[in-house]
Amino acid sequence: MEDNFGHQISYLRISVTDRCNERCAYCMPNELQEWLPKGGVMSYEEILRVVRIAVGLGVTKIRVTGGEPLTRRDVIPFIKRLSEIGGIKDLGITTNGTLLSRSVGDFKTAAAALADAGVRTVNVSLDTLDERKYVAITGRPYLNRVIEGIDDLIDSGFEKVKINTVLMRGRNEDDLIQLVNFSHQRNLLIRFIEMMPVSSTDVLKDSNFLPCGEVIKSLSDTFGCLQSRSDYKTNGPASYYMIPGRDQLIGFIGAMTNFHFCESCNKLRLTCDGKLRPCLGSHLEFDLLSEIRCGASDERIANFIRGVVVKKPKEHDFLSNYQPGRKMIAIGG
Ligand code: SAM
Ligand code: SF4
Repeated sequence: MEDNFGHQISYLRISVTDRCNERCAYCMPNELQEWLPKGGVMSYEEILRVVRIAVGLGVTKIRVTGGEPLTRRDVIPFIKRLSEIGGIKDLGITTNGTLLSRSVGDFKTAAAALADAGVRTVNVSLDTLDERKYVAITGRPYLNRVIEGIDDLIDSGFEKVKINTVLMRGRNEDDLIQLVNFSHQRNLLIRFIEMMPVSSTDVLKDSNFLPCGEVIKSLSDTFGCLQSRSDYKTNGPASYYMIPGRDQLIGFIGAMTNFHFCESCNKLRLTCDGKLRPCLGSHLEFDLLSEIRCGASDERIANFIRGVVVKKPKEHDFLSNYQPGRKMIAIGG
């Protein structure tokens, strides 16, 4: 599928829940979160049907996210069913890592169960290695669980676990070197993410926004001049740099400051309440679940998906169209 700006759409990110066991300051800070009623959330059968149709239209990569995807009941058997759909070349999950170490069914850890379910890439969110700051950022004392979960992923044979770190001036800017070294020791691929205006509160202020360019400069002061590796690409919008003298790549996701950020976008997003979104940084969303529940045929759903693709904007609208009302937790980061 191609949109009106030459973006080739091959990647579907699916939020399976709006619920979460953490309360990250930039994502879902309010304790009094109103969850969607269960009936408003897409069933696994409904999601599987959409994925089968999307694969028929050229989607080859799926990422399961949330909310915290591992809080939804039976999510790992659901992921296994996703992996059995022919045509999916890459199946990933983004998680806060807090539930990777608990046992699931016959498996000693959820990490091992995910490997068995056919997941290829796991992205774990981790903004600091300081317990006190971890609690301040996420609202929960789960740092040790996350580190244990990362080690369980490595023990389960995942080759390249990615770490997602949201950049926050005054909160974790002093922790970045430690996170880079932690990632180096464990052969993890760390990516630094600029904070985006997708939250229930006005999180994005000049006083707390930390741009990637500044981080590249400060890491260069410590490690030597970071070298751009524009030849290295994962499936997303990250730009990669190499630390000289160290075989370590670092990714930067500069949604707010990189003017070329949207050029290679290949994504659609399916929210847990069944809205299809052509772009994270735009208010546009289309109610696919209502179509499904009104009895739409596969062909009608395929046309619906094609129709959303042609409405994909050229680029995100974060700078002029602040959208604090639609939280990342509901859209699926
Ligand atoms: N709960 C899972 C997790 O934390 O990885 C998956 C969902 S979370 C919404 C997906 C990613 O979005 C995380 O890496 C998180 O750090 C990031 N995120 C959430 N709110 C954000 C914001 N306002 N700006 C930038 N990234 C954000
Ligand atoms: Fe939960 Fe992930 Fe949002 Fe944090 S970023 S509140 S872990 S969904």
